[in-house]
Amino acid sequence: MNRFRLPYHLVVEEGVFDDIPSVIGKAFPKPGAVKTILVTEENLKGIFEKTIDEILRDFSQSELHLIQKADYDSAVALAKYITMNDIRLVIGFGGGTVLDLAKFAAYVSKTQLLSLPTTLSNDSLASPVAVLGTEGKARKSFRCTIPDAIVIDVNVVKSAPDRQLLAGIGDTVSKDTALFDWKLAGKKRGDAVDDFACMISRMAFDSMLCGEGEQLKSRDFIIRLTHALVMGGLAMEIAGSSRPSSGSEHLFCHALEEDFSEECNVPHGIATAMGSYPACIFQGRDPEKIIRIIKNYGIPVKPSSQKVSEEVFVKAWQQAAATRADRYTILSETDLSENRLSALYREMEEMF
Ligand SMILES: [Zn+2]
Repeated sequence: MNRFRLPYHLVVEEGVFDDIPSVIGKAFPKPGAVKTILVTEENLKGIFEKTIDEILRDFSQSELHLIQKADYDSAVALAKYITMNDIRLVIGFGGGTVLDLAKFAAYVSKTQLLSLPTTLSNDSLASPVAVLGTEGKARKSFRCTIPDAIVIDVNVVKSAPDRQLLAGIGDTVSKDTALFDWKLAGKKRGDAVDDFACMISRMAFDSMLCGEGEQLKSRDFIIRLTHALVMGGLAMEIAGSSRPSSGSEHLFCHALEEDFSEECNVPHGIATAMGSYPACIFQGRDPEKIIRIIKNYGIPVKPSSQKVSEEVFVKAWQQAAATRADRYTILSETDLSENRLSALYREMEEMF
């Protein structure tokens, strides 16, 4: 059985970034008692200057690290710096790129990690996976651990553009097809499938089904989306792999990111939601729930709206399985002929 650890704290409140010490309990050293590094990027420092200055003041023995490149070498170099300078706490402040780098550096240096997401655009805020740039390949996923604490300021998340929240919902939509693919791999290839991880991931998906036409930026919805994304991360931690959150729809997304980044630049959660509808059709299942969530929130999955042409759509599906060749998914047994994929493209153009 996979050994796992869960975060000590999950706080989602309005204005909580103004007083982080008050919500971090005994599981953490007292703010200021240990050397701390706050990891973020230049443009976020500009947007959240006052907030970042206050956090640095709260953690008095702290320094600021602005990331230049979100690649493996930079994460390892940061881990080395952390170890050599006896830093005991890493604070990741930002979106997926910053959080993944901070997460991997904290993992390698065996340092505690406090995750302060500024957007809810994907499940990286609580996942045990860091996606980093590598030589030769666009990006690669590296296993690490989930943060020790996740603190989310509802006001900060609200200030982000709508499409970031839509991408976060999209990353949750994909769990439906991911779970089917994981169970299929269990049946066809004997992969270990963890029922508890499946249950949590299913709950994350189901939580997006309720709440017809609700306000995207209401406090209640932001809390619910946070919980859904965190559940996705916990399911991965429990499973010891990304399988409860990532199936053939993610392979399509990886193909877009890795092979067609020059033609289109689709946000991760939008690309996975775009992949969920065809994946569900390949699986021979009723896509009604997926369509309902996509339409209810208005997730922009119409391929042409994201500059995904018919040709790119077809090729991305045909190349999807090769992006993670060790994974068994519905793509391992699906007709991916040009005719079928072109028809699906046109169907999606009409439907969404
Ligand atoms: Zn994802």
